[in-house]
Amino acid sequence: MPTPFEHAMHQLARAASLASFSQDFLERVAHPNRQIRVSIPVKMDDGSLKVYEGYRVQFNNARGPYKGGIRYHQETDIEEVKALAFWMALKCAVVNIPMGGGKGGVNVDPKGLSKRELEALSRGWMRALVDVVGPQKDVPAPDVNTTPEIMAWMADEFGKATGDTSGAVITGKPLEAGGSEGRGTATAQGGFYVFEALRERLGLPASCRVAIHGFGNAGEHAADIWSKAGRKVVAVSDSKACVRNDDGLDVVALARHKKATGSVGGFVGATTLAPEEVLYVPCDLLIPAALENQIRADNVARIQAKAILELANGPTTPEADDALFARGVPVVPDILANSGGVTVSTFEWEQNLKGEHWSEADVFEKLKAIMVREADGIFVRAQSLQSDLRRAAFVVALERIESAMV
Ligand code: NAD
Repeated sequence: MPTPFEHAMHQLARAASLASFSQDFLERVAHPNRQIRVSIPVKMDDGSLKVYEGYRVQFNNARGPYKGGIRYHQETDIEEVKALAFWMALKCAVVNIPMGGGKGGVNVDPKGLSKRELEALSRGWMRALVDVVGPQKDVPAPDVNTTPEIMAWMADEFGKATGDTSGAVITGKPLEAGGSEGRGTATAQGGFYVFEALRERLGLPASCRVAIHGFGNAGEHAADIWSKAGRKVVAVSDSKACVRNDDGLDVVALARHKKATGSVGGFVGATTLAPEEVLYVPCDLLIPAALENQIRADNVARIQAKAILELANGPTTPEADDALFARGVPVVPDILANSGGVTVSTFEWEQNLKGEHWSEADVFEKLKAIMVREADGIFVRAQSLQSDLRRAAFVVALERIESAMV
């Protein structure tokens, strides 16, 4: 299986063949400006010392400060972070916000840490990287397994080290610590605006049946938003199980069940299956909202959805992309579909810099305008290029980055 970065470079080459970018630009944009690897010592509760490896990749800042989340995962490494940082540069360009692309991470299974250890690790990440981040340099945010509370610890650590307590160094903070209204649900909400803007053109019925892979920040909010909009959520999964009910899941009760038991599995009123089964249930829309490389050459034939909306980053491999395009199954790509998160993160940064606090209605109105405008533009571009939506989104983003670099 290709690494996520090989996957990203493959996507770059395919999109580049559709437009007339200079060779120099294509060479430059494929290389990160800076890759940083740090050691983070943490005193564990049992008195021992453990050293974790942390990362920040600053890929491209032609359009503004680096921007991108921090991932805590036992399989995270610098190659994965590099791919995610590249996609962030494109994503910020897709929504035309004044940010470049970066990403961070720590190789750790956070579920094995106590709260005190998690705080020590998070403060350690910021201490190790305090010289390279900052409101005008690099603005991190949450990603897989990192939370608003972790962002608050990091913002506090940055304030102690630099005296800058504006909070603008990091986004996705709790409201009490300078967070933005709407940030928690922004990724899923932005995906919903894109879906609504494109639904008819993607050939999906109004009474769309949805399956969601992943039930964390992106997936759980997506389940809530689609179900409140009257769509049936027929299956969801987390890392331990998939639950399916063709009449529609009670999403609110399911979230309560997950909170109480730690998994969606065993939810009353649904059939519990293996986690990957969520990908194969009959539905109109499949929303991958977990990790990379979930839809691949070896399982794409089993997917029955009529369209895919990628809230996760990099869930579809290039081979699977080709197979879906050939079958006429549209894929709304990650760099468009999940860009609501970074868009509202940028609103948060702007509010912190200006000392303002916008209402949730204001945030969502601005978010909707951006998502609908860019979704329309990419759909039209895909038609003129006779390409899939991913290549069209790449071309639009690369053109914007190239203009900034030139
Ligand atoms: P999260 O940690 O809140 O949730 C991840 C979910 O995926 C959990 O429910 C977990 O159980 C599930 N999962 C993990 N491994 C799985 C597996 N093998 N099969 C099924 N489910 C599995 O993370 P998140 O913030 O929701 O991020 C999910 C995806 O969305 C990532 O690709 C992330 O990069 C992307 N994303 C998130 C945001 C955001 O604002 N949170 C923004 C843009 C993109």
